[in-house]
Amino acid sequence: MLLKLVILAAAIAIAWYGFKFVGRVEEQRKAKLARRAAEEGQTVTDTVKCPSCDAYVNAAAPSNCGQADCPY
Ligand SMILES: [Zn+2]
Repeated sequence: MLLKLVILAAAIAIAWYGFKFVGRVEEQRKAKLARRAAEEGQTVTDTVKCPSCDAYVNAAAPSNCGQADCPY
Protein backbone atom coordinates (compact mmCIF):
# COMPACT_ATOMS: atom_id res chain seq x y z
CA MET A 1 0.00 0.00 0.00
CA LEU A 2 2.76 2.41 0.95
CA LEU A 3 4.72 1.45 -2.17
CA LYS A 4 1.68 2.25 -4.30
CA LEU A 5 1.44 5.70 -2.73
CA VAL A 6 5.14 6.31 -3.33
CA ILE A 7 4.80 5.23 -6.97
CA LEU A 8 1.73 7.43 -7.37
CA ALA A 9 3.55 10.39 -5.84
CA ALA A 10 6.53 9.75 -8.11
CA ALA A 11 4.27 9.55 -11.16
CA ILE A 12 2.60 12.84 -10.22
CA ALA A 13 6.01 14.46 -9.68
CA ILE A 14 7.29 13.22 -13.04
CA ALA A 15 4.15 14.47 -14.80
CA TRP A 16 4.42 17.82 -13.00
CA TYR A 17 8.08 18.33 -13.88
CA GLY A 18 7.44 17.03 -17.39
CA PHE A 19 4.76 19.65 -17.97
CA LYS A 20 6.99 22.33 -16.51
CA PHE A 21 9.84 21.26 -18.78
CA VAL A 22 7.61 21.21 -21.87
CA GLY A 23 6.24 24.63 -20.97
CA ARG A 24 9.73 26.02 -20.57
CA VAL A 25 10.87 24.59 -23.92
CA GLU A 26 7.76 26.00 -25.60
CA GLU A 27 8.42 29.40 -24.01
CA GLN A 28 12.01 29.42 -25.24
CA ARG A 29 10.87 28.39 -28.71
CA LYS A 30 8.33 31.23 -28.80
CA ALA A 31 10.91 33.74 -27.56
CA LYS A 32 13.32 32.58 -30.24
CA LEU A 33 10.65 32.92 -32.94
CA ALA A 34 9.68 36.38 -31.68
CA ARG A 35 13.31 37.44 -31.65
CA ARG A 36 13.85 36.12 -35.16
CA ALA A 37 10.68 37.85 -36.40
CA ALA A 38 11.87 41.11 -34.84
CA GLU A 39 15.25 40.73 -36.50
CA GLU A 40 13.67 39.99 -39.87
CA GLY A 41 11.30 42.94 -39.51
CA GLN A 42 14.25 45.17 -38.80
CA THR A 43 16.11 43.80 -41.80
CA VAL A 44 13.15 44.51 -44.08
CA THR A 45 12.79 48.10 -42.87
CA ASP A 46 16.51 48.79 -42.88
CA THR A 47 17.26 47.64 -46.41
CA VAL A 48 15.98 48.62 -49.83
CA LYS A 49 16.14 46.55 -52.97
CA CYS A 50 18.20 47.96 -55.79
CA PRO A 51 15.92 48.11 -58.88
CA SER A 52 18.72 47.45 -61.37
CA CYS A 53 20.77 44.72 -59.69
CA ASP A 54 18.23 43.14 -57.27
CA ALA A 55 20.70 43.51 -54.42
CA TYR A 56 19.56 44.60 -50.97
CA VAL A 57 21.42 47.65 -49.79
CA ASN A 58 21.36 49.50 -46.47
CA ALA A 59 18.64 52.15 -46.64
CA ALA A 60 20.42 54.39 -44.14
CA ALA A 61 23.73 54.32 -46.06
CA PRO A 62 23.16 52.88 -49.54
CA SER A 63 26.28 51.80 -51.37
CA ASN A 64 26.85 51.26 -55.08
CA CYS A 65 26.84 47.58 -55.99
CA GLY A 66 29.15 47.94 -59.00
CA GLN A 67 26.51 47.99 -61.75
CA ALA A 68 26.79 50.90 -64.20
CA ASP A 69 23.12 51.83 -63.87
CA CYS A 70 22.96 51.38 -60.10
CA PRO A 71 21.12 54.35 -58.63
CA TYR A 72 23.05 54.18 -55.37
ZN1 LIG B 1 22.63 48.31 -57.50
